[in-house]
Amino acid sequence: MASKAIIVGGGIMGLCAAYYLGKKGWQVQVFDQNPALDNCSTGNAGYICPSHFIPLAAPGIVNQGLRWMLDSSSPFYVQPRLNWGLIDWGLKFMKSATKRNVENAAQPLRDLHLLSLAAYDAMRQDEGFDFFYAKKGMIETVQSPENAHHARETAQKARDLGLDAEWLDYDAVAALEPDLKMNIRGGIFFRCDAHCDPAELMQNLSAKIQKQGGQIHKGVEVLDFSKANQQIKVVKTSAGDFETDLLVVATGSWSREIAAKLGLSLPLVAGRGYSFLVDQARFPVRHPIILTEGRVALSPFQNQVRFGGTMEIVKIGTPLRPKRVAGIVAAVRDFFPGFDLKMPPMEQVWDGYRPCSADGLPYIGRVKNYDNVLISTGHAMMGLSLGAGSGQLLAEMASGERVSMDSHAFDPQRFS
Ligand SMILES: Cc1cc2nc3c(=O)[nH]c(=O)nc-3n(C[C@H](O)[C@H](O)[C@H](O)COP(=O)(O)OP(=O)(O)OC[C@H]3O[C@@H](n4cnc5c(N)ncnc54)[C@H](O)[C@@H]3O)c2cc1C
Repeated sequence: MASKAIIVGGGIMGLCAAYYLGKKGWQVQVFDQNPALDNCSTGNAGYICPSHFIPLAAPGIVNQGLRWMLDSSSPFYVQPRLNWGLIDWGLKFMKSATKRNVENAAQPLRDLHLLSLAAYDAMRQDEGFDFFYAKKGMIETVQSPENAHHARETAQKARDLGLDAEWLDYDAVAALEPDLKMNIRGGIFFRCDAHCDPAELMQNLSAKIQKQGGQIHKGVEVLDFSKANQQIKVVKTSAGDFETDLLVVATGSWSREIAAKLGLSLPLVAGRGYSFLVDQARFPVRHPIILTEGRVALSPFQNQVRFGGTMEIVKIGTPLRPKRVAGIVAAVRDFFPGFDLKMPPMEQVWDGYRPCSADGLPYIGRVKNYDNVLISTGHAMMGLSLGAGSGQLLAEMASGERVSMDSHAFDPQRFS
């Protein structure tokens, strides 16, 4: 009889883990507290981005963040609150934001992005997958001379890591985007990147998991676990108890609390972002583009363009802040002077909580003290990109196979 696997969380981490475990013959059940699987994985920019080899915890972010925090429409905000989880994360984040962390993180992040990119390529060939996916690169544009200098260095670092990236001046970017009027100095063209429609990918994954014989329990919250010896054998949910041979925790921004129930201390906070869609006829952009100074990412899908951004470290469920969305609109208008983008009605604005680890690297691997528990979370702004690779690694670990890459840098116990 097939071994049973319970996956907690139906975001990109949970669904990719379920897909790859199902492929290896596990009998999978996914539990998600949300009745519609409406989570951070659906409305994001869809970047599959080896270009993102620099973690969130990097030198400069702390000072920059402190300055931004004084401006209510800035791209970064930390909701002040007396919460031990936030203080603990903040202290560890500040300690991690070093040049050394950036250097150490580059290779493992690159490898996981590339593993993921190859996995998404293969997924598209698998029966039942038909999601929008384009391999046309991404342009990371800049306005200031300082950021242009920094961008040239980043392009060189990317090439040192074997990635296809090149600094382009204004005219060269304009040749790639002939229909846009741009207020930029130039940009890095990361030819190595791809992008997809994340909602379509998530729908395809859900359907495929069920076709493989797996079950997805929506609107069911996982409350606790029954421990016996070194194993979790029973998962307690709002719909009763379920037996399992393997437990995978993929609970995104809720992971700190769930991990604590397993005795794992996981520094992690929720970083909320917003996005909205505009008809492509109104904004004929051809490539995904990052507006560096505005911290906005945009993605052209089939008929629409998604604009997304801002990072708000807030308690989950905090009322939406229209000023943050106004900040995205202002940045877009500044970068594209010919584009009269209006503030969208708030009911058309999507929001999602990025699970942010304390050093910008995800937590992927075994939860020590147990023989049958794995975790995959903390992917911050890169979860979609790293999803397929993380799921593949977890399925290999669970099945006792040789893993596709060295995953030591992602050890969930590294802050314990
Ligand atoms: C504006 C924006 C743009 C982004 N753009 C990109 C991009 O272009 N590329 C990229 O790689 N990343 C991007 N990201 C980041 C990416 O979206 C996240 O990293 C990723 O979605 C996290 O996936 P996850 O599965 O860990 O969490 P989630 O998608 O949040 O899923 C976690 C799930 O766990 C469930 N859950 C939690 N606790 C329980 C419980 N106790 N019981 C049952 N269920 C539970 C939740 O309901 C939720 O559905 C973006 C994010 C934002 C906000």
